[in-house]
Amino acid sequence: MSEDPGPTTAHDPVAAAPVRVAFVALGSNVGDRFEHLQEAARGLAALPSTTIVGCASIFETAPMGAAKFDFLNAVVALKTVVAPLPMLDVLLQLERSRGRARDEKWGPRTLDLDLLAMYGDEGSLAVTHPRLTLPHPEITARDFVLRPLMEIAPSLQVAGHRLDHHLATLPEHARTVRGRHGLPLLERAPFGVSVPLLEGG
Ligand code: ATP
Ligand code: CA
Ligand code: CA
Repeated sequence: MSEDPGPTTAHDPVAAAPVRVAFVALGSNVGDRFEHLQEAARGLAALPSTTIVGCASIFETAPMGAAKFDFLNAVVALKTVVAPLPMLDVLLQLERSRGRARDEKWGPRTLDLDLLAMYGDEGSLAVTHPRLTLPHPEITARDFVLRPLMEIAPSLQVAGHRLDHHLATLPEHARTVRGRHGLPLLERAPFGVSVPLLEGG
């Protein structure tokens, strides 16, 4: 008599991996900026065991640093089993697939993808690694990150304060958003994200 061994999920690394929510910032100021952002969002949605659970408006943003051209910026939220460092590698690969040249700091770029933060059962992941810092240290200093992030996760707290507090206390020179672009980043993407572990945190 042979026994049914049952599901093998205990040995399946994907099934065993924790599900987390990742917030990814997207930016572009070279070439077809909208297409670069759209293709990046589609690439993220196509990752294994990953769904887009939040998709902000696209914002038009004045350049910082050496950049001369306006940016388009957005933020998406993903539910994913992809761990932080592999997720960073995915982001860098997507940047390369859109022809990103990595030269001057804050210079013109076809695509910039930053991992803003990741949340799991353990709360907000704190990562200090030579290649990855989580949460991204500049979230609270950038209106082009705070504004899209607020749309999809209004109750999120970063560095001990709500996003609207950080936005209200930003100095004038850090206010770079000119307005909303108007076109949706992804058709039929969920506009908000309601993740229980983010509520009231
Ligand atoms: P900023 O991070 O201030 O927005 P940037 O996006 O212009 O600057 P890049 O040249 O795109 O910086 O990235 C440089 C390196 O930053 C990446 O190769 C990556 O290893 C590292 N890095 C550290 N933390 C993060 C993070 N949370 N998200 C993305 N990259 C990160
Ligand atoms: Ca960046
Ligand atoms: Ca980056």
